Amino acid sequence: MEVLQNYINGRWQASREKQTIDIINPATQVCMGQVPCGNDTAIDVAEAAEAAARAQREWAEMPVMQRVQPLYRLKILLETHLEDLAETITRECGKTKAESIGELQRAIENVETACASPMLLQSEFSENITRGIDEFMIRQPVGVCACIVPFNFPGMIPFWFLPYAIACGNSFIIKPSEKVPLTMQKVMGLIDQVGLPPGVVNLVHGSRASVDALLEHPEIKAISFVGSTSVARYIYAKGAQNGKRVQAQGGAKNPVVILPDADLETSSRIITDSVYGCAGQRCLAASNILLIGDEQGRVKDALYEAAKSRKTGYGLVDGVEMGPVISTESKARIERLIDLGVHEGAKLLLDGRNAAVEGFETGNFIRPTILENVPLSGEIIRTELFGPVMSLVNLPTVDAALEFINGNLYGNMACLFTSSGANARKFRNEVKAGNVGINIGVAAPMAQFPFSGWNDSFFGDLHGQGRHAIEFFTQTKVVIERWPKEWSRKF
Ligand code: NAD
Repeated sequence: MEVLQNYINGRWQASREKQTIDIINPATQVCMGQVPCGNDTAIDVAEAAEAAARAQREWAEMPVMQRVQPLYRLKILLETHLEDLAETITRECGKTKAESIGELQRAIENVETACASPMLLQSEFSENITRGIDEFMIRQPVGVCACIVPFNFPGMIPFWFLPYAIACGNSFIIKPSEKVPLTMQKVMGLIDQVGLPPGVVNLVHGSRASVDALLEHPEIKAISFVGSTSVARYIYAKGAQNGKRVQAQGGAKNPVVILPDADLETSSRIITDSVYGCAGQRCLAASNILLIGDEQGRVKDALYEAAKSRKTGYGLVDGVEMGPVISTESKARIERLIDLGVHEGAKLLLDGRNAAVEGFETGNFIRPTILENVPLSGEIIRTELFGPVMSLVNLPTVDAALEFINGNLYGNMACLFTSSGANARKFRNEVKAGNVGINIGVAAPMAQFPFSGWNDSFFGDLHGQGRHAIEFFTQTKVVIERWPKEWSRKF
């Protein structure tokens, strides 16, 4: 069985760690390889950090227009290898091939946006702040930067950071999720071909030990994290303690409000896509659906019909609309939480537990599930399920919905479905969430906008993507210069 290698200083090399864990296809349980995982991955991290630090000094001196040339080449390679990369994502992560292609297109958008870095890095200059004195601000790279990413978007999330970091003159280390390391392994094979100097981009595998090593190594100056809230909080605290700048995106429990004047056909289709897309394993998956007013029965029926007809199966099979969840442990956890919901008083309108898919009987499948009359006081309404479960909640007014949402611990996304401009405007102004959708089910910001998040969904100041990424990956230097006329000789 192949054990994945690290990519350090422009070369593939075996990890110092001999312990491994299996990489499992969640639909078939077939083992597709092994990934190093254990304390000695810290040695790999140290090697990568030192190589990255050596490479960074020269890389930073290269003009930005030259630094983005490898990104143009990477865009072409990602497009050329789209099908193969998408199949790899589906094999290791479970989502459908169409979802994997969508994910990669989002990665490519970020490469394209980072190619605008020659403009984005332009500085500010004020002439004559007082007579003979000018002041300006320049952006310089931070140094060695690293990202630690989750399992659910193995091909996209590293690209919220990587292209911007290197375009800004930093070197970079990627630590993929140990559950889905194959996609980045393949992407690294493409990065190897784009003409970057050795050490500018590195890949190290592992889990907790390699993360701790990244948080501790003195050469690493900035950490970008995406994952669960408990780990995000840990990364933010430990990274800050060690003097690093940190952006840490956490978990979510996303509410969607449907007003009685929403277009029923469109909104039920979009909302079920949001809840069940990627089998609910999306930080922007809708989870709590808040039904307002006296049309609740009609809306519930429409959601039920859209959910029940969704085809579950192996993501590489044509016509499949929803794949498995990532692991047997995850399936058991989600099914336990559905039980808890029922125990708390919710009614199981659609039960997707114990799903068996013909030909893939061992897969981690849960079919679309709907809990209705979910009580406001229980645990299920506040817990991130990260599975294909819709919770229906009845509320009388928009104000009651806002009060419920704004009392939530998380603040990743909130959406409203309506045909009333005034209600939409009130919602977007008052809701406490970083990504807001109006008649949109997955309010995922395009690459030119920051991927936001509030409350326990984000720790830090600057987010991934776009201008925020440029700011995160640079430090500002303000220069004040005095050049009085009388000091210079006249020629
Ligand atoms: P996770 O927190 O378990 O793992 C994320 C990364 O942290 C992995 O690389 C893992 O190796 C590492 N890690 C795990 N436990 C650790 C520990 N104790 N100490 C140090 N490092 C550790 O997350 P996951 O299960 O891979 O991903 C799902 C979570 O990610 C969900 O909560 C989801 O909402 C969140 N997510 C958030 C966003 C966002 O933009 N806010 C995007 C995608 C996913």
